[in-house]
Amino acid sequence: MSNKKVDVAIVGAGLTGLTLAFYLEKAGKSVALIEKSDRVGGVINTIEEDGFVYEQGPNTGVIGSEGIVQLFDDLKGSCEHVTPNTESEERWILKGGKWVAIPNGLLKAIKTPLFSLKDKFRILGEPWRKKGTNPDESLADMVKRRMGQSYLDYAVDPFVSGIYAGDPIQLITRFAMPKLYRLEQDYGSFIKGAIKKKKEPKTALQKRVSREVFSAKGGLGKLIEGLENNISDEAFYCSSKNLSVQPQESGYNLQFSTFEEKKINIEADKVITTFGGEGLASVLPFIEKDWMKSLANTVYAKVVQVVVGYNKWNGRELKAFGGLVPSKENRDILGILFPSALFKSRCPEGGAVLSIFVGGMKKPKMIEKTEEEIKAIVMKEISDTLYCSDTPDLLRIHKYEKAIPQYDISTKDRLAAIDNIEQKYAGLYLAGNIKDGIGMADRVQQAWLLAKELTNN
Ligand SMILES: Cc1cc2nc3c(=O)[nH]c(=O)nc-3n(C[C@H](O)[C@H](O)[C@H](O)COP(=O)(O)OP(=O)(O)OC[C@H]3O[C@@H](n4cnc5c(N)ncnc54)[C@H](O)[C@@H]3O)c2cc1C
Repeated sequence: MSNKKVDVAIVGAGLTGLTLAFYLEKAGKSVALIEKSDRVGGVINTIEEDGFVYEQGPNTGVIGSEGIVQLFDDLKGSCEHVTPNTESEERWILKGGKWVAIPNGLLKAIKTPLFSLKDKFRILGEPWRKKGTNPDESLADMVKRRMGQSYLDYAVDPFVSGIYAGDPIQLITRFAMPKLYRLEQDYGSFIKGAIKKKKEPKTALQKRVSREVFSAKGGLGKLIEGLENNISDEAFYCSSKNLSVQPQESGYNLQFSTFEEKKINIEADKVITTFGGEGLASVLPFIEKDWMKSLANTVYAKVVQVVVGYNKWNGRELKAFGGLVPSKENRDILGILFPSALFKSRCPEGGAVLSIFVGGMKKPKMIEKTEEEIKAIVMKEISDTLYCSDTPDLLRIHKYEKAIPQYDISTKDRLAAIDNIEQKYAGLYLAGNIKDGIGMADRVQQAWLLAKELTNN
């Protein structure tokens, strides 16, 4: 049995847990970072294989929070932030089986075949449309009400597939798109709100928050490595098993075992968990059943990610970020990203790497398909939409039973349960993507703010 006392114990060493550990140690706190897997990074995982560098998990993030701007500053020298090749900025949406670029200017917006003429005129009236009154309105209803059906079908539906692998009918705007919700509630309109928000005073850090896409040189795994190398070795407890946390008179006791050591006992003033779902019940067995039920009820999208690599690419020119597929198109994939068009050195010269997403909330049964079936689906989509029927030199399939938590109506009970738990059990924090956003920028923002709160910085 080994014993240790730390200021903060963090459970889960994905992006949230690592960022927390990094900032807490930076502020002088002692930390234990307990991870059940034998590697850190959670769903972020960059793999180098046969001349290809590809992501298993997220491909890119957005510099969409102060936390992520700050983190790249603080990791300078340990990890190099990269932005996509400007030639590949276009984003495509499939319509009638053909890729159409999302318009990036007024003239293109008027001409685009993505939206109906009626809705193009209708959007001119958006600033004067009445404000919604239902706080639990779905994203689909809100978009239909303010912008029209074609914007839902050919902008928001594919966008939501790309972010949540979700269904806009199930997502609740105030949870899933809180910034959009606030634009309507605070300014009465998306358009008016966006213009007014641009003019509001900002701190130097806020001015650097943008919609710019990021990765790290060598892939997102280098961001994880950068964090890992700046956290003390003694903080890490990987391959943990049977973790159980118990409240004490003051602080918490954590017991678990690892590969090398039979039993480890840690006393911590504070405990932060960074994952969700059913797994929390065994880690926090003292939590009231009703509250735990609300946490276990979190709905996750099931996603299959397929990485396809070619030493020589003979298909359509890939000068774009990638393409998203609206549900209306009735196809078998959610979208295709072109990582090798975005970032240097991801494949042999003249080749390509594609990252394809299948399944999601609208097609959950896709995850049950065999690898051969998934391969056939993906190859047909590549042939139909990118005009390449060559046999790939690399094909990797990864299934995520719990890829992305859905901020649907069950979020209401989940957030209430988290508030109740944190109020009743001082020093216990439930973090991770079960609240505050699912994107990498959201994850870092949550961790950065929580570390500040715990260190009075
Ligand atoms: C396929 C996919 C594609 C994505 N694409 C994008 C994208 O393009 N852009 C973007 O911004 N975001 C994307 N995301 C979302 C984003 O990657 C995640 O929200 C984020 O990385 C989650 O980080 P996290 O640390 O909160 O959770 P995780 O990465 O899930 O880490 C949680 C950690 O907790 C550990 N853990 C769980 N239970 C226990 C336990 N009992 N004891 C100890 N440890 C435990 C897990 O092993 C894991 O390492 C994507 C996610 C997926 C799955």
